[in-house]
Amino acid sequence: MSWIDDKARSELAIVRENKERQTYPYFREFESGGLHTSVGGKPIINFSSNDYLGLTNHPKVKAAANAAVEKYGCGLSSSRPQATTTEHVELEKRLAKWFGYESCLLFTTGYQAMLGTIVALADKDTTLVLDSYSHACILDGTFLAAGIPGRAPEVRFFNHNSAKSLERILKTRERKNALVLIEGVYSLDGDKANIKEFVEICERYDAVLVMDDAHGTGTLGTRGTGILEETGLKDRVPVLVSTFSKTFGGIGGILLGRSDIVELVKHNARSFLFSASLPVPVVAAASTILDMLETDGPAMVTELHQKAAYMRGKLKDIGFELGASNTHIMPVMCREERKTVFMHIGLFESGVMMVPLIYPSVKHGEERLRVNVTRGHTQEDMDTALELLKTYGEAFFVLSGEEIGPME
Ligand code: PMP
Repeated sequence: MSWIDDKARSELAIVRENKERQTYPYFREFESGGLHTSVGGKPIINFSSNDYLGLTNHPKVKAAANAAVEKYGCGLSSSRPQATTTEHVELEKRLAKWFGYESCLLFTTGYQAMLGTIVALADKDTTLVLDSYSHACILDGTFLAAGIPGRAPEVRFFNHNSAKSLERILKTRERKNALVLIEGVYSLDGDKANIKEFVEICERYDAVLVMDDAHGTGTLGTRGTGILEETGLKDRVPVLVSTFSKTFGGIGGILLGRSDIVELVKHNARSFLFSASLPVPVVAAASTILDMLETDGPAMVTELHQKAAYMRGKLKDIGFELGASNTHIMPVMCREERKTVFMHIGLFESGVMMVPLIYPSVKHGEERLRVNVTRGHTQEDMDTALELLKTYGEAFFVLSGEEIGPME
């Protein structure tokens, strides 16, 4: 055990020190759900939530989940080959139709959906081509595939969102097949994929494009089906992966594509076959959110965009730098670890939660607060947050860009 003790001691020293100083910003314990919650009895407005349309706590969603608990219980105690319900299959059919794909498969998380899809599709004849800012599920799926003896694909990275860099990689790849993995909206920067150019390059070099639109689902396109609706490119992107953990208010992974591709993944994705089936209350909640999107999607997306535009305008007026963001995800760049953590603490103590993103989540010099505007935020929430951001942005030299002193 001693090597584990040593490892834990050294790796956890910083966490322990921050906890003692009460400057540890993660694993805050919410005492209720929703964007308006409390921590330690103190009201908190959450501005780092991914509940983009504010539907997670809608009374209809809760009622559907409650009814499903009565009928099916909290879980199914088995994986999908042994525990599929009519509710799973019905929702898969409805999602395929809503997104406009032939077929859909529900995973237990979006992370598992991507892991399973990569491992099922990539083999020794494949080059996996990744954006350098890829989400952990894309990286982990790739590393998992690359570690399978006798099946390992080649792995190559291209510069974030650079069509030129992608083209160079595809041209010089060593394997005959290529799987290109991108995201619709990058969650740390809030920028959108350079999708049109990527689609054209993938077609030119006979590569299969896999899109993870976790953050575009419910936020982009007139109906809210994502970046492929917004750009009109759906029919040129063969595989789409998304999640229930943002707009769909719960947990669950979504794979969409041609029937034969989805069938292939269904029978080969180990993260699907060997992990518990999505609980039916979660399926029922997502299904109810889909009802709402089908009827009121356009109005809800418009409302989100109006709120995001208001917040963006005001943040810019105050003088904050928002990096490459052009969506509802607006990182407030602080560019220094202590400034970022101090901003977080000041805001948190005043009732606003904005999670600090520091190294290694982002590069040194690119530290920022995660600010997600959602449809569920009120005008008052946004104005409160803006006023506090201005106060602490001045106090901790984020707005002036001056260096911050020792402050021990
Ligand atoms: N892809 C992206 C781009 C994400 O941001 C996330 C979640 N943060 C996931 C996939 C994983 O989704 P889930 O939470 O459903 O596992």
